[in-house]
Amino acid sequence: MAKMRHRSKMNMSSLSDWANEDNEILTELSHEETLAQMNQMDKVKHLLLNNLEGVCHNTFMEYYIPRFGALIWTLRHEENWIIEKEKCDLHDYHKSLQYKYIYNGRNYENQE
Ligand SMILES: [Zn+2]
Repeated sequence: MAKMRHRSKMNMSSLSDWANEDNEILTELSHEETLAQMNQMDKVKHLLLNNLEGVCHNTFMEYYIPRFGALIWTLRHEENWIIEKEKCDLHDYHKSLQYKYIYNGRNYENQE
């Protein structure tokens, strides 16, 4: 029933309502669904900004971002993000050395 009401509301919407509905739809998405809609760079940013204790190598892999290393490089060098690399202490299941990446703000001095 709720679904029907939502659809009829969408049909009546004027152009200016579209943006509002986009926002509505976004807020209805779960955290996982939001991530699924993002491109790889947005995912990397989102993960770093929402996990201030760091994002493990494994976490990037879980989100299907095999090239996260290159994306982090781009953030560091082209967007002046300060991203530290440290031994992962978030998981105790690592059998070998694994790194996590920690967002530490942005280096505004290098920006124009
Ligand atoms: Zn880890």
